[in-house]
Amino acid sequence: MNATVFDVAVIGGGLHGLSIALNLSRAGMRVVVLERAWVGRHASGATAAGVRTLNRDLGELDLALESMDMWHNMAAIVGDDCGFNAHGQICVADDISNFGKLQDRVSMLRALGYTHEEIIDPRELRQLVPMMSAQCLGASIARNNGAADPHRTIAAFRRSAQAAGAVIREGFGVQRIERHGQDWSLETGIVGVPPVVAPIVVNAAGAWSGRIAAMVGDIIPLKTRASMMMVTERLAPMLKPVVSHMGRSLSFKQSDQGTLVIGGGLQGLSNLDLETSTVRLGTLAKGARAATDLFSCVSDIRIVRTWAGLEAQTDDKLPVIGAAINASGVFHAFGYSGHGFELVPVVGAAITDLIVHGSTRRAISNLTPGRLIVS
Ligand SMILES: Cc1cc2nc3c(=O)[nH]c(=O)nc-3n(C[C@H](O)[C@H](O)[C@H](O)COP(=O)(O)OP(=O)(O)OC[C@H]3O[C@@H](n4cnc5c(N)ncnc54)[C@H](O)[C@@H]3O)c2cc1C
Repeated sequence: MNATVFDVAVIGGGLHGLSIALNLSRAGMRVVVLERAWVGRHASGATAAGVRTLNRDLGELDLALESMDMWHNMAAIVGDDCGFNAHGQICVADDISNFGKLQDRVSMLRALGYTHEEIIDPRELRQLVPMMSAQCLGASIARNNGAADPHRTIAAFRRSAQAAGAVIREGFGVQRIERHGQDWSLETGIVGVPPVVAPIVVNAAGAWSGRIAAMVGDIIPLKTRASMMMVTERLAPMLKPVVSHMGRSLSFKQSDQGTLVIGGGLQGLSNLDLETSTVRLGTLAKGARAATDLFSCVSDIRIVRTWAGLEAQTDDKLPVIGAAINASGVFHAFGYSGHGFELVPVVGAAITDLIVHGSTRRAISNLTPGRLIVS
């Protein structure tokens, strides 16, 4: 059976695979995205879509700041603003110890020259979040942060990647990767489906990226996250910024449709082999309690849907972005550990720099695969 030949095969049709395919296609490469299920099936379709630099680890902060600039220019990149509203992200504290942590972080950032986070007092907090019932000592804020619409984002990146020439193959699960001369051959293991052949492979397989990496000799230990979310019935507009709580697992926002979208990283059950994630209602109730402690006006609101989504988590909770250690022509982009949505536009550009130019000026030096690889 004849193989299909491309310059680059991207494994994984989540937002990162699409962003990488978009950037590579615009750079003139023939790109195929190989997606086992359908585009957006896993983390990218389950995400809360917060666009946040607030409280980012310093190891990825510069990259996240560049990505934030790209979010503010998103319509020029993919022809749609992806529903991005920059109403700010706020992290509130209701005890001295947690407020001290927020103040210490903002002081540390100032000392390093960063100005994107500020401390606000209870008066300003009340103006920005009038529906909040809890007494808070203050908060930190990143005013140009916000949230987007995940499904509009997927549609816009898919459309733009295809318009730039990328081919998307859904239902193509890569089961084997073999070296043939200068090329890699990617196979589904299904009789009658020809392999895809390309000299360059990008591993953007989300929760399953460790398995893809192992196929080419890179052993990178990963945990699996199954972050849970809940969404309520529609309410009249009452909240613009995204609110999180220092010391509790809570992220709370109102969508453009009026629903409250509540998450914060509480974990459900994951099964990589079955490709499923399951909500643990007892644990999710802690998130609902954190929400109603802060916003007593929502205590009688109905929750209409809950879900969980699968993602890979690294030991240091920073992503893995860069060339494989043990396989030439293979690049990794995974391990976003619960906060990869914001990084989508910049990672596509950074991986493209590496493939097209052999290096990048973008701030990925803390994110190399080599820091985690088991030899
Ligand atoms: C509930 C939840 C809330 C979140 N909230 C936020 C947030 O507010 N802000 C933020 O910045 N981030 C958030 N994240 C994280 C963010 O959504 C992810 O980091 C991001 O979507 C990861 O995109 P991805 O393309 O790497 O992975 P995915 O979207 O999971 O895509 C990987 C794809 O690879 C495919 N695949 C796997 N193995 C193979 C194979 N062998 N062959 C072919 N295809 C394969 C899968 O089917 C999958 O579609 C959240 C995540 C979840 C789950």
